[in-house]
Amino acid sequence: MDHLTKLENKSIHILREAYANFKDLGMLWSIGKDSTVLVHLARKAFFGHVPFPLVHIDTHYKIPEMIEYRDNYAKKWKLDMIYGQNIEALASKNTFPHGNCSRLECCKLLKTEALRATLNGTGPRFRLNHETGKYEPEKNPTAFTGVIVGVRSDEEGSRSKERYFSPRNQKNDWNIGEQPPEFWNQYKTDFAPGTHVRIHPLLDWTELDLWEYILREKIPMVSLYFDKGEGKRYRSLGCGPCTQPVESTASTVEEIVEELRTGKFSNIAERSGRAQDKEDGGGLEELRKAGYM
Ligand code: SF4
Repeated sequence: MDHLTKLENKSIHILREAYANFKDLGMLWSIGKDSTVLVHLARKAFFGHVPFPLVHIDTHYKIPEMIEYRDNYAKKWKLDMIYGQNIEALASKNTFPHGNCSRLECCKLLKTEALRATLNGTGPRFRLNHETGKYEPEKNPTAFTGVIVGVRSDEEGSRSKERYFSPRNQKNDWNIGEQPPEFWNQYKTDFAPGTHVRIHPLLDWTELDLWEYILREKIPMVSLYFDKGEGKRYRSLGCGPCTQPVESTASTVEEIVEELRTGKFSNIAERSGRAQDKEDGGGLEELRKAGYM
């Protein structure tokens, strides 16, 4: 079996384990390459139909093309699409782009708090109505007890400390020192009541694996990943005001694979274009302990 097929099989196995063991399951979809590959794997795992909702935390500052891509793809593949948003913080303009708080505080409000409230059902959720093509407020949202997330170990230091099935407490906090061992692909999937579990089917994938798989499976990606003649492209996607493209002339998936194989980016962090990672002395682990993706 080739390397990509082995990775695919393991991820599909984890997705099926998650579906078999968690009643209220959702999958986070950031519209980036990792979680879009995860959506593709979920479609494969369940024979074309994703049997749980896809959840997007919409900060309101995502690059507009990402939202357009999300909705086109959700409609095309009949995905049960939900988004959550911190409406209060946006209405009071308590955000970094408005100049009223730091990036770290803004991420806490628009990402961490929005995620917590969306997952536990206390915040507003909007669900795509496939008949009208519009989003509608969800009535009586219930809590998700398991959420599938497309993080990879090689992407960033704190993510390498995750388990495939990684427990969080009721507040979504992450105790890095108290995680169950996962020897020989034996996953712990039963947890105390009230535990919220994050499931990570892509932990073993590298950035190159991902793009080789996108090439092999012909998975459509947001065009922001490709150079359009300016010698720049996004390597990692996020909010417009805080994400910068990298210098690259790769304009197709084949060219991105070639570029990664040359090792051009081997000494440059994948999320180097994300300004919020650099605040608070590289505080992404602190954000993630408190519930950030
Ligand atoms: S990435 Fe920037 S705009 Fe987005 S939530 Fe964080 S600080 Fe706010």
